[in-house]
Amino acid sequence: MEDKAVYSVVVPLYNEELVINETYKKLTWVMDCTKENYEIVFINDGSKDSTKSKVQEICREDSKIKLVNFSRNFGHQAAITAGMNIAEGAAIIVIDADLQDPPEVILKMIGKWKEGYEVVYGKRVKREGETFFKKFTSMAFYRVLKSMTTIDIPVDTGDFRLIDRKVRNALELLPEKNRYVRGLVSWVGYKQTFVEFVRRERFAGESKYPLSKMMKLAFDGITAFSYKPLIFSAYIGVISLFIGIILFIGVSIRDLIKHISLLNISFILSINLIMCGFILISMGILGQYIGRIMDETKDRPLYIVDNIINYKNTQGRQEIKYIK
Ligand code: UDP
Ligand code: MG
Repeated sequence: MEDKAVYSVVVPLYNEELVINETYKKLTWVMDCTKENYEIVFINDGSKDSTKSKVQEICREDSKIKLVNFSRNFGHQAAITAGMNIAEGAAIIVIDADLQDPPEVILKMIGKWKEGYEVVYGKRVKREGETFFKKFTSMAFYRVLKSMTTIDIPVDTGDFRLIDRKVRNALELLPEKNRYVRGLVSWVGYKQTFVEFVRRERFAGESKYPLSKMMKLAFDGITAFSYKPLIFSAYIGVISLFIGIILFIGVSIRDLIKHISLLNISFILSINLIMCGFILISMGILGQYIGRIMDETKDRPLYIVDNIINYKNTQGRQEIKYIK
């Protein structure tokens, strides 16, 4: 029987008939350079073109290639999650199918893994052949997300990365549905580093990420890792309350000195601002509670154990290393 794969390369596919043969060729060429055992796991995410039959043909010729066919389009993040779940390798590499992520960078990632890093993500230093809109929105999104979260999600990195098997096992403990995988990988921790690369132009075909899918991913990223939008109203509320109180004091003093009736527009406005302030602050407080409800429903574990020393209980799904 063939030995278990050392490396699993996970490739999500959605209508990629124009690139699949070239991607297969490049990936096998690069992975053969490692001189170690590997598998390539293609996830066909409900493609409507000939992607499925093309990969099936490849599978007939090459037993290292696996294919998971989804029953419909479940999305990129679901596809890479499925790939990581069935991957058998000691290290798992996730890469896009369109050769925008250069396969030869995998060798650099493997080098870092062998140095002892458990997550090696690809950091895009330059993006070629993408629209200004895509580059700008993506640049802005990563920075907004970073400013909103307390965990360190690196900017300008996609899902192109290598993860050690124990990181994959840890990800299995996170059952949430609206997955932002690159954020989850940051969340689980472990020894992380990066390699830089130039993101190339798509080999062929068009982007499978229209604005609607990009927005969904961005919202998943922000809502899964930040409460800040929930307490945004509280910040506005505090400002409103502050202005309202100043106005109230100012107007009241003026009205008392000048003996003006309190039924004037400035006085009513100040009361209004104070009330709005209270309402918005209450909404922010509600947001805090909703945030906590979100945490409970996400059902993430409280912590991830890397290893336990001199402890004999092997129960649970976590890999436990014994160090003498
Ligand atoms: N993809 C997928 N399901 C989708 C959309 C995309 O599996 O619903 C795959 C796609 O085939 C590719 C990767 O996800 O391998 C990234 O997609 P794409 O290159 O179109 O995104 P972009 O690089 O334009 O952001
Ligand atoms: Mg692409």
